[in-house]
Amino acid sequence: MVQHVGIIGAGQMGNGIAHVFAVAGYDVLLSDVNEEALQKALSRIEINLHRQTAKGFVSEAEAKAALSRIKTTHDLTDFSEVDLAIEAATENEKVKIAIFQELCPILKDDAILATNTSSISITRLASTTDRPEKFIGLHFMNPVPVMKLVELIRGIATSEETYHIAETFIRKIGKTSANSEDFPAFIVNRLLLPMINEAIYTLYEGVGSVEAIDKAMRLGANHPMGPLQLADFIGLDTCLSIMQVLYEGLADSKYRPCPLLVKYVEAGWIGQKVGRGFYDYRGDDPVPTR
Ligand code: NAD
Repeated sequence: MVQHVGIIGAGQMGNGIAHVFAVAGYDVLLSDVNEEALQKALSRIEINLHRQTAKGFVSEAEAKAALSRIKTTHDLTDFSEVDLAIEAATENEKVKIAIFQELCPILKDDAILATNTSSISITRLASTTDRPEKFIGLHFMNPVPVMKLVELIRGIATSEETYHIAETFIRKIGKTSANSEDFPAFIVNRLLLPMINEAIYTLYEGVGSVEAIDKAMRLGANHPMGPLQLADFIGLDTCLSIMQVLYEGLADSKYRPCPLLVKYVEAGWIGQKVGRGFYDYRGDDPVPTR
């Protein structure tokens, strides 16, 4: 039975995953290599819990109890008691593999190991661990406390038991799962990222300004957010990694990352998490950067 959940990476996704497991009554251990990220994650969780209490989704007492269930650490040796470890670090295959190599000898033999990767092959990641049958893709959506879906992805060796356990805890944290086969970027990002990349091409080729493109898709296609605003929200570094995985994994030029996306990432303008991307978020209102 899963009761103790460890999360590696306390960025946008890690803090949200910690939040939903803690609210559902699980004990959570949240880790990151960066102390500032851990502190930011805790304050973000507190703000989001406060928002949920204000809306009446959780009581004050439940929010307080949830916070008290979250512990933080820099040290993966603290993961020896977790039943489930979820890797939610930077979207970079080498980073993820290095984490698994350090983590696997520490984990209990029967612990499940999951990755929140947006695009990387679950089968390939699983093959670098000591437990491919207990390895699974759990693709949470951003922002985790709000979004209902978790894509569930089996690697070639993932056991039925592991899949069934994952379906059960996804239900317990109030989410719904959709099964995706293990192909580059799975379902949601296979569809979403080429649209975002195309929006960036539309900007690059001068078809529309940042404002015009986002307004067109908000009001013309009824999208809740424009594609460039959504790219900033996801993180342009993550968007670029996903496009590279699609491009290389499917060997089709239609997935070529837009050079303007590459330029923004090279500039370090990677979106809302750093205060600047297709919009500048450092003032009171976002201002387009082109
Ligand atoms: P992020 O940049 O906000 O956070 C990544 C965190 O990982 C950072 O705090 C970083 O310090 C930490 N980290 C890096 N190397 C580490 C290591 N070796 N050990 C421990 N921590 C380490 O990124 P994010 O948006 O939270 O994305 C995390 C993962 O979730 C990625 O795989 C991404 O593809 C996936 N994902 C992202 C979204 C999204 O919309 N942003 C949605 C679904 C899934």
